[in-house]
Amino acid sequence: MTFPRSVQPLPDVARALAVAAHPDDLDFGAAGTVARWIDEGIDVTYLIITRGDAGGFDETPREQMPLLREAEQRAAAKAVGVEQVEFLDGYRDGTLTPSIELRRDLTRVIRRYRPDRILTSSPLRRWERIAGPSHPDHLAAGEATTCAIYPDARNAFAFPELLRDEGLEPWVVREVWYHGGPSPDHVVDITDTYPRKLAALAAHASQTSHVDVESWMRPLLAFTARGAGLPDGALAEAFTVLRTA
Ligand SMILES: [Zn+2]
Repeated sequence: MTFPRSVQPLPDVARALAVAAHPDDLDFGAAGTVARWIDEGIDVTYLIITRGDAGGFDETPREQMPLLREAEQRAAAKAVGVEQVEFLDGYRDGTLTPSIELRRDLTRVIRRYRPDRILTSSPLRRWERIAGPSHPDHLAAGEATTCAIYPDARNAFAFPELLRDEGLEPWVVREVWYHGGPSPDHVVDITDTYPRKLAALAAHASQTSHVDVESWMRPLLAFTARGAGLPDGALAEAFTVLRTA
């Protein structure tokens, strides 16, 4: 199972919603691209499903981890220019499934925010590398978000209580961007916004302060850029972009 070829991104996107399982997912996978969207005038909101309470590497008391990681994600968002960051409540790091409850919670946010574009993690596993992008929480977030895009958010009869009790009208999201999936073929040159991505990653100190993020990320991003035929020294992130309407 793999993705079809990416489409050309829509030219008229006003609002984008980025959905992630954990704090730092968007910053590792897409922050350079999000920074470009901000520069283009797109209104971007982050929605993080868990507070990453199973992450970290040091002696930080576990009960402090959710608050710490929420604060880190807010600082990371600010570093790329994203002002709105929302967290869902009731989901624990390491336990995500594409449940009906999660689909309803995502549908609520989609109908409230009415994005043209959604960015999320790939629901497809990369079998050649059972790590990072293939974390089950990432796959679940991608799957639940895809289900919320179609059919839930656009179908008035899905979760009818959202319309009845909260007045949330159906909404059609037109485009989805997946990061971390197999064979991503839509490459974004992030050479200019790379410093903001680095700053965003540094903001996740509980996850990144023990590693040299620059010497870890630069070769990966340079490899992606080279594979797409970008000039020497260029850096890039890669996605699959699909039309959803
Ligand atoms: Zn993650």
